[in-house]
Amino acid sequence: MTQGSLATQSQQPSHGFESSSTIDQKHPKFEMPPLTTAREANSPNSTMATTLQEHLSSAIAKLEPESPQYATEMVDLILTSSRNATASDVHLLPTQDGLQMLWRLDGVLHQVAELPREVAPNIVARLKVLAELLTYQTDVPQEGRIRVESHDAEMRVSTFPTLYGEKAVIRLFVGSGRYRFLDDLQLPDDVATGLRKLLMETGGVILIAGPAGSGKTTTNYACLRELVNEFGNEKSLVSLEDPIEAVVERVAQSQINANCGFDYTTGLRSLMRQDPDVIMVGEIRDKGTAETVFQASLTGHLVITTFHAGSAAGAVSRLSDMGIEPYLLRSGILGIICQRLVRRLCSCSIPDDEKKNRLGLDVDKSWKAVGCEKCGGTGYTGRSVLAELLLPDLQKTGRAILSRSDAAEIEAIAVEAGMETCWKRALEAVESGMTSPVEVRRVLGLR
Ligand SMILES: [Zn+2]
Repeated sequence: MTQGSLATQSQQPSHGFESSSTIDQKHPKFEMPPLTTAREANSPNSTMATTLQEHLSSAIAKLEPESPQYATEMVDLILTSSRNATASDVHLLPTQDGLQMLWRLDGVLHQVAELPREVAPNIVARLKVLAELLTYQTDVPQEGRIRVESHDAEMRVSTFPTLYGEKAVIRLFVGSGRYRFLDDLQLPDDVATGLRKLLMETGGVILIAGPAGSGKTTTNYACLRELVNEFGNEKSLVSLEDPIEAVVERVAQSQINANCGFDYTTGLRSLMRQDPDVIMVGEIRDKGTAETVFQASLTGHLVITTFHAGSAAGAVSRLSDMGIEPYLLRSGILGIICQRLVRRLCSCSIPDDEKKNRLGLDVDKSWKAVGCEKCGGTGYTGRSVLAELLLPDLQKTGRAILSRSDAAEIEAIAVEAGMETCWKRALEAVESGMTSPVEVRRVLGLR
């Protein structure tokens, strides 16, 4: 996730925008009404999402497009309904016919509404006011944030000029409630037990790897909460994040600010002088951060962080490719967890005897998605985490890292030493009917 916006984030909008008189420029803070409905993070219920979608349509129909408050009310409605549906992202996509609204639910986009074309610019403008963007500037990409005080969370808004007007995407961070303890994540037993053991260490790096949208941040926060529970005030717990997605009591959380030179690398160097025991780093994005993380880990600090990689072994070789010395990896890494989220088949799924529908997966049986009222016709309800835990301190794996072995080789050695890969768990999930071959291919790709 790069933050290189072309326009600055917090300049006050001027009054160049033609409809600005209808927009409340003085109070850009968004007041979030209390949540009335919330889906369980680990067992989302699509029925509820469908119902919320119906509520949304009738609520949209009640708003008066001629009213001067229309854009304000519509944006409030968009933000509240998306949050209630626990969408992770909202897309407002201008087309020839109107402004499409899409929600990303359980990792998949769904179109939920289409708003009249005439109101599209006002709606995007209102959103830009809330995010403190330049409303009159519609021809360059912009990025900003909306603080939601009542939920200790924020939303990130980005706009992008397209053929039919500005496209806006809102990333919703669900706030403290969703980020709970390790037990709530339903990680495989061996991974949860292994991770809990690693959290008791006093130095080293715990890497949480996976692609975007695989729940890394949720696991990162769960680890932090676990530490707070275990050690309370006995340990100094600090974090560097971008953004702070949830507040964790008794952790000194810091938001980095790269525009002022306060980035992960400089932040980490300064933090080391603050006598911390545990440092949570939002994400390793570059070599500088990676190096500083490993240096910190070798001087008696436990560092927990996330890293973009396709597998645990892949994370090792990516770090090595970034230029991190193998000896640093060998002695620094305590463990690497890599995770993926797959959608769970709804109870309406049926056994599928057609071998070609197994999409080349090495399984003896499989089920396929059907769709019913309960799952809103999608065939799936909620998601489950597939995870693998690589522990390089097992002798052979450590040696493989030192000798710069490639990912496949490191993985083979780790498997020999007992690691269950995400792929193996995915095949088991297909055979047990938890998920489908199509979903496994969608999430894990080809191999
Ligand atoms: Zn169903």
